[in-house]
Amino acid sequence: MSVTGAGQNADLIVINGRVLTMDDDNPAAEAVAVKDGAIVAIGSRASIEQLKGPATKVIDAKGGSVLPGFIEAHMHLFGGAAELDNLHLAGVHGFDALRDAIQTFAAARPNARLLIGAGVDYAILSEPVTRHHLDRIIPDRPFAMSASDHHTMWANTMALEQAGLLHGRQLGPGNEIVMGADGLAAGELREGEAFGPILEFFGQNRTRLGLTGGEPEPYPLAEELAADRDLMHRGLEWCARHGITSIQNMDGNLYQLELLAGLEQEGRLLCRTKIPFHFKNFMDIDMLEKASTMASTYKSEWLSSGMVKVFYDGVLDSWTAVMVEPYADRPDWVGEPLFTPEHFAQVAVEADRRGLQIAVHSIGDGAVRAVLDGYEAAQKANGKRDSRHRVEHIEVITEADVPRFAELGVIASMQPPHPPGALNFPLEPTLSRIGRERWPLSYAWRTLKDAGARVVFASDWPVSPIDPILGIQAAVMRKPWAEGLPDQSFSLREAVAGYTVEGAYAEFAEHRKGTLKPGYMADLVVLSADIEKTAPADLDKVRPVTTICGGKVTYQA
Ligand SMILES: [Zn+2]
Repeated sequence: MSVTGAGQNADLIVINGRVLTMDDDNPAAEAVAVKDGAIVAIGSRASIEQLKGPATKVIDAKGGSVLPGFIEAHMHLFGGAAELDNLHLAGVHGFDALRDAIQTFAAARPNARLLIGAGVDYAILSEPVTRHHLDRIIPDRPFAMSASDHHTMWANTMALEQAGLLHGRQLGPGNEIVMGADGLAAGELREGEAFGPILEFFGQNRTRLGLTGGEPEPYPLAEELAADRDLMHRGLEWCARHGITSIQNMDGNLYQLELLAGLEQEGRLLCRTKIPFHFKNFMDIDMLEKASTMASTYKSEWLSSGMVKVFYDGVLDSWTAVMVEPYADRPDWVGEPLFTPEHFAQVAVEADRRGLQIAVHSIGDGAVRAVLDGYEAAQKANGKRDSRHRVEHIEVITEADVPRFAELGVIASMQPPHPPGALNFPLEPTLSRIGRERWPLSYAWRTLKDAGARVVFASDWPVSPIDPILGIQAAVMRKPWAEGLPDQSFSLREAVAGYTVEGAYAEFAEHRKGTLKPGYMADLVVLSADIEKTAPADLDKVRPVTTICGGKVTYQA
């Protein structure tokens, strides 16, 4: 046992736990002591109880695992919180089930201007969803529903018409209003520019706040500001309830930072939060000055910025991800990037020159390659530094690009709940889009890790449920789709590291959090059972009981 500040009583002790410290020098313990927001001692119950004074709060872990607080490395706080009230369609399949769900939801909300469903599988019906299907379910009220990946929306005729999309519209590259044979919009809207007008028309565009790259205009008045702050707080509560103590948001602007700073002032910032600047392809490169301003204004251990988020491509399911070779089920098409490789490299060089971290949504192997090329260009232009740039998702990668992560010091940010077949994600249409030849290097986190890449895990909430334990389970239980494919699963310890140690590394904070060690932040979670003794299939039944962030209890079951 090691003690700092010996002789003083702890503020809080956790006893009777199976402490998984994630610290190789001291991997297991029974108890933890906390003082002034930091861990002061880890060791046996007897040694920790010596630090108990009359005012010390005692948490009995009852034999459950005690882990470093989870670090959620890729998520969307505002949008996720806003969706907590939407119709949840994950797991719904077939026309009848969809009809029942929508009609029940609509009946309970007679005054909603727009009814919104979320979490839709691309294969929810046995044929592509059109506005006609939705009209048969709900013809007389505007309705729209989004795919679980948030890259596609489907709307009924009334919603399309009122938002001015029924006759199509000119959009930027990578976005598409799918048109029907009758010359009118078919109902499927691919990517943000296509469905943005619906959310905007019905006053729901705040759910995309920060994904637009700009700031809300006009600046919200007090009432709206308070409502947005409360929404953020609801999202943070949802995180704390799932054992999360740090989040790395993947959309952002100054407004989100200001909302969170307001919550911090009110003592309601329940998680440490990192908010990036979202750079869009239409922006002038000088806009990165704003990212630098955000970085220099917000740099505390509770609220920070310093990251630039970029989308390079879309998603596989709507053929908007960028591939090196054509899609297996669309042989004339490789997708359309949101940046040219040259344009992206220019952005990467400039962001890197400013000392900012870069995180790029890159799903197809073509996008992954272009983004790595951009990082390489940045390294050539500015010299090698500890930049920890990130590639987000990496759903497909070519063999040639696998070793480049280690070579360039680039982080692989991946989502265990996303592979087809994991959790409630269906196998199709994704597997047919990718094609068998590319399966061995699809969602290949084991291959990347073995090649020396740092692999960090996350949910991309609300794309999939935020629960890190579900993610850990999905990583441990990952099964090949066919015989002869490499095993991409992680051990329990590796999976936990993906949500703790690696998350800390991704934000340059591995000396302060992600492991339980004296002197580190008192961010930890107590679980309902010992996860090392739980069968993988039962992991989802293990629940956070107590979440502690900065020494304060942020969630108690
Ligand atoms: Zn995301």
